[in-house]
Amino acid sequence: MSLLENYITEPKIAYFSMEIGLKNNIPTYSGGLGVLAGDTVKSAADLCLPFVAVTLMSHKGYFRQEIDKNGHQSEHPVIWDPADFMQLAPEQVTVTIEGREVHIQAWVYFVKSPRGESVPVMYLDSDIKGNSKEDRILTDHLYGGDESYRIKQEVILGIGGVRMLRKLGFKVKKYHMNEGHAAFLTLELLHKFKKDIESVWDESHIWNKEAVKDLCVFTTHTPVEAGHDKFSYELYEKVFRDYFPVDILKTLAGEKNVNMTLLGFNLSNHVNGVAKKHGEVSQNMFPGYKINAITNGVHSYTWTSKSMKKLFDKYLPGWANEPEIFVRIGSIPDEEIWAAHMKQKTELIDYVNSLTESNMDYDTLTIGFARRATAYKRADLLFSDLKRLKKIASGKVQFIYSGKAHPKDGPGKELIANIFSYRDKLKDSIKIAFLPNYNMDIALKLVSGVDIWLNTPLRPLEASGTSGMKAAHNGVVNFSVLDGWWIEGHIEGFTGWSIGPAATEVKPNNNMNKIDAEDLYMKLEKTIIPLYYNDRKNWIRMMQNAIGKNAYYFNSHRMMRRYVTEAYIR
Ligand SMILES: *Cc1c(COP(=O)(O)O)cnc(C)c1O
Repeated sequence: MSLLENYITEPKIAYFSMEIGLKNNIPTYSGGLGVLAGDTVKSAADLCLPFVAVTLMSHKGYFRQEIDKNGHQSEHPVIWDPADFMQLAPEQVTVTIEGREVHIQAWVYFVKSPRGESVPVMYLDSDIKGNSKEDRILTDHLYGGDESYRIKQEVILGIGGVRMLRKLGFKVKKYHMNEGHAAFLTLELLHKFKKDIESVWDESHIWNKEAVKDLCVFTTHTPVEAGHDKFSYELYEKVFRDYFPVDILKTLAGEKNVNMTLLGFNLSNHVNGVAKKHGEVSQNMFPGYKINAITNGVHSYTWTSKSMKKLFDKYLPGWANEPEIFVRIGSIPDEEIWAAHMKQKTELIDYVNSLTESNMDYDTLTIGFARRATAYKRADLLFSDLKRLKKIASGKVQFIYSGKAHPKDGPGKELIANIFSYRDKLKDSIKIAFLPNYNMDIALKLVSGVDIWLNTPLRPLEASGTSGMKAAHNGVVNFSVLDGWWIEGHIEGFTGWSIGPAATEVKPNNNMNKIDAEDLYMKLEKTIIPLYYNDRKNWIRMMQNAIGKNAYYFNSHRMMRRYVTEAYIR
């Protein structure tokens, strides 16, 4: 029987994402967007949805991060072999790039659900004999290279992806674009639905936009302007030649440049942001479009630590495929939740001590902060006033950091170096560790092993944020700026704590640093530290609420059910 025979019998939802993070040793992801895509595919498999995913191979991964003793990041290729996990699909397709025919193959990985279902993920790969040297490296580096490298990758993903599915015999009932990177697929679909030229009165009417819109769903993931891919028409014409007329494209992707988000918006009947607030902010950025909101979630089974899994299996059987069962969290005895947490915490502290010289201990309140190192996430907000931090936290709190900066993000790299220098300055009073090479394995260790998960983005730039949802699955309480998902998940002193005022702005206000830092220090000193050390019973109550209220809702099973009813079958 052929590799995909069982998968082409029924029309599928085809999910396109530049990065997909399924597990640590398939390093084709950089951060939140990719991990969300991986969680999406896993939930699709668990929920037995007719689903196929398309992504790029990224032979060299995003990068492996090394950091020297001064906090300077260097980037190295990840070494791995797709053949360890995947099989080659039996067909190849071609796309045309700068007039050259580029051959594309696909590696297939099957995401298997414990329920027996599986979802194929296609990793498109241009590293084939017969392609020119410059084309063979197009699927090497995730988010690497220049604009020209990026647009060519997006030709492979969008156009190559549609052709590959068709050639393999897949029928597609919806194309879901996870961010703008895949939006060129709409042009390939316009070609497919081209009307008969004899029956229309002028050439612009041969493009059947309505047919394409009916097939497409678009999710936007960032309110940061630079996060939306844009290419010049000059570059477009150089790469695409006469594939699709520029005058028509300008009506779909913008006059000034090819804006991949606009292209997706204009050719999708369903468009959504990834949290309620992000829906509003996106609406403000793109007036004239109806932008819905489907708040993200994380895959419960993936993001629950071993000891919590054991506990949930004992008291809440079925939780992994029905996270609503967390509503019964109160049936787990306090001591057992605490013991499961301490087991994870001990493992994390041992791990941190084995990698760093921080000499952390098990009984100190431990705060974790790990995410992409980029300016708006404000990883250094905690260090706004070192004297004050010292007074509040000496001997009472220890901190663990981790995160990669994009190779071209200078300010992001500086953030890492700054944390190293604060660590050194404070070394006699506060223990601070930075774990290099943040990845999915380290993420799980951190979100389950700390006591508090800290997040300090500049409002309203955190579209959703997902690591806090992972923390909640492990009874780790969130302490975060009210942005993204936390606006929906936060109940003060019940599920966690806020930092700074309620989110009202739709544009960033850089004067917030002082106000937010003040609130952070105040709550840490007056509320969080005393509760942790003096009122363990109520601390455990908050851990239960994190699970029973936050994990109960912010999981990808709930998210996928909403995509089905609000986007896929409408
Ligand atoms: C979950 C995750 C992220 C996203 O975290 P945010 O809180 O959304 O920034 C990034 N990187 C890795 C490795 C993750 O597991």
